[in-house]
Formats: sequence, C-alpha cells, structure tokens
Amino acid sequence: MSKTDDDMLREKIAKILGNGLETQTEPFPEDHNQFDEVLRELRQLPSDDLEGKLVVSGFVDHPYGDEQQRCLECMYYLVHRRWCDLPELAVPVEPEWWCRLWRI
Ligand code: SF4
Repeated sequence: MSKTDDDMLREKIAKILGNGLETQTEPFPEDHNQFDEVLRELRQLPSDDLEGKLVVSGFVDHPYGDEQQRCLECMYYLVHRRWCDLPELAVPVEPEWWCRLWRI
C-alpha cells in the first residue's frame, strides 16, 4: 500500500520529535481559560508552522505524566485515521504520543 499524505506527515513529525525538539509540555492547562490561552497561541502561528504547533502544544512522542496519558485516550483522537482532530492542531499522530491539550 502506498503512503498517504497523513503517513508522510506523521513520519515527519516523528522525526522532528525524535531529533529532540523541545516543546512546552508545561504548564498543563488546568481550566478552560488556560486551555483557551494555548489555543489562542496556536491560532497566532502561520498555518504552515509545524514545529511551532508542536512546541506550543507540548508534543512528545511517548505517553506522559504519572497517569501515562496518550493520544489514544484523548477525546480529539480519531482511531481509524490516527489523527488529532483538534482544529488548531489537525495533524496525524501516533496513539502513544501526547500533548498538553489532552482531554477526555
Ligand atoms: S489534543 Fe494532543 S493528546 Fe489529544 S489527540 Fe491531539 S495531539 Fe493527542
């Protein structure tokens, strides 16, 4: 099966994270206002600024925190597409990844 655009972008993100991009995993937004603040920051980025998105949202390529949270359990994760459906992100992800916009 040939690679889709999603596959290629997912691999690109994996490579960027694997190369040690430092992202803002903290502070984790504790309430609605803090969550919206992160979304506002994301909306201010140029739409093609992939690394910026990863940095602001605190992406990591592994489960995170004491609870080992993952995209897999996040309400924005689309299982069949392996996709983050939060409009401000809208990127392919792996189920074991995480970002600080994680929600259930
Ligand atoms: S919001 Fe974050 S944790 Fe949730 S699916 Fe998207 S990238 Fe994963």
